Amino acid sequence: MDDSKSQSHGHIVMLPFMAHGHLIPFLALARRICRQAPFSVTLATTPLNLRYLRSTISPDDDDSGIRLYEIPFCSSDHGLPPDTENTENLPFNKIVKLFHSSVSLAGPVECLISDITTEEGRPPLCVISDVFLGWSVDIAKRLGTKNIAFTTGGAYGTLAYISIWVHLPHRSTDSEEFSVPGFPEQCRFHRSQLHRYIREADVTDEWSKFFQVQIKLSSASDGWLCNSVEEIEPLGFDLLRKYLKLPVWAIGPLVPSPLLQKSSPISPNSSLKSLQKHSGKAFGVSLAKCQDFLNSHGPNSVLYISFGSQNTISPSQMMQLAIGLESSGKPFLWVIRPPLGFDIKGEFRPEWLPPGFEDRVTKSKKGLLVRNWAPQLDILSHGSTGAFLSHCGWNSIMESLSQGVPIVGWPMAAEQAYNAKMMVEEMGVCVELMRGVESRIEAEEVKRVIELVLEEEGKGGEMKERANAVMGQMREAVKEGSDDEKGSSVKAMDEFVRTVLGDSTN
Ligand code: UDP
Repeated sequence: MDDSKSQSHGHIVMLPFMAHGHLIPFLALARRICRQAPFSVTLATTPLNLRYLRSTISPDDDDSGIRLYEIPFCSSDHGLPPDTENTENLPFNKIVKLFHSSVSLAGPVECLISDITTEEGRPPLCVISDVFLGWSVDIAKRLGTKNIAFTTGGAYGTLAYISIWVHLPHRSTDSEEFSVPGFPEQCRFHRSQLHRYIREADVTDEWSKFFQVQIKLSSASDGWLCNSVEEIEPLGFDLLRKYLKLPVWAIGPLVPSPLLQKSSPISPNSSLKSLQKHSGKAFGVSLAKCQDFLNSHGPNSVLYISFGSQNTISPSQMMQLAIGLESSGKPFLWVIRPPLGFDIKGEFRPEWLPPGFEDRVTKSKKGLLVRNWAPQLDILSHGSTGAFLSHCGWNSIMESLSQGVPIVGWPMAAEQAYNAKMMVEEMGVCVELMRGVESRIEAEEVKRVIELVLEEEGKGGEMKERANAVMGQMREAVKEGSDDEKGSSVKAMDEFVRTVLGDSTN
């Protein structure tokens, strides 16, 4: 055993699901745990996902307690082409195969935990596994350690997602609206909030077969960690705890610390390196272009548009969105990808937009189109960004609200529609423009909603005020200091470390 190991407060094995939006918060959680005390964290995933993590991790002090461990992935065993071990590289209808393939990681994970146990003379302190990797609960128990599930989503959205998958409540009614076990009767959900795969699920389909099993297994964990803040979704945490009957620690937001410092918006040049590092992608010229564009506009005036790490919209939706944006006359920065039905990573064709659209908006400095991927954290933390048209992925929500930027919701998949519902009904920071990639959208509606959100008075002003209040709560939650001064997320992390990892250094 080397010196660093002998000084370690113990070992933790972390198992993220293979999607960009899961890897990033897992890495952030690993860093957060290592900051708490000198724990050793082994973050285990498949080769392609490991490459993502490796590109964001640095050998500096922050990351010295984190070891990346490669689990082999046999894509052909599951009928997947090579290099598709991440949701980003797969069309949605094939993602279900990736979910099923994740179960085959169980064997190598079991070997990893046994090896650690042999080498260190005791099992790891715990396994922290993605909610989707429920199979790890059984392995952890058999090998004499605990399993903690980590949801990379919020409390409300996670509860809605798991409960709907487990109970399929929409199947027992013909009505468009239905209630969901775990939520009060009066909190109605709507069929249009269900992704096609849940809407059509009938227990025997491949999606149900995966989610029903893995979610039930995860619900037998020793506790759950949640990348959210107690104060920003009190109802969600109350309901999630009652539903799971387990400890749930709200330890978020797991966003890079410069985003949570008092002096937001941060100056464009000061923390670029750390923010870029968080996201794990190279931006090249787009970073400077985005900054120049944002610098040329007034405070809170620009609409930022992005649908996350792997989504796009339909050709007709793209056309209507473009027409609506142009007719609103409001400045916008749009992360654009080929529409549905085309290679999402392929060349962007001008015919997907109204004739002359890009030239016109570029010349008038009203719009900037960024191809495929943009430095989202830098954009959201810039003072010119006034609202975010988002697919409501939880990382995007945390990043946006941590900067007091309200949201125009266009949820697409996973728990995104429930995140949007919670932000509209509970937080008051969101207005929903659209749901999914199948519905029709009119340019007029785009224009109306953009104008409403970016106005200083009325609904737009109220949303901004609420978003600023949520930003304040998020910053309070991560406040360090004496016991009296500590924020709720810091206290929750202390409690998790004390009760699960058995460490009393904090
Ligand atoms: N992201 C980014 N640039 C982009 C698109 C996405 O940096 O152009 C990052 C974003 O900051 C966030 C993550 O990718 O951290 C997307 O995660 P989210 O949970 O919002 O959505 P998902 O991609 O999982 O659907």
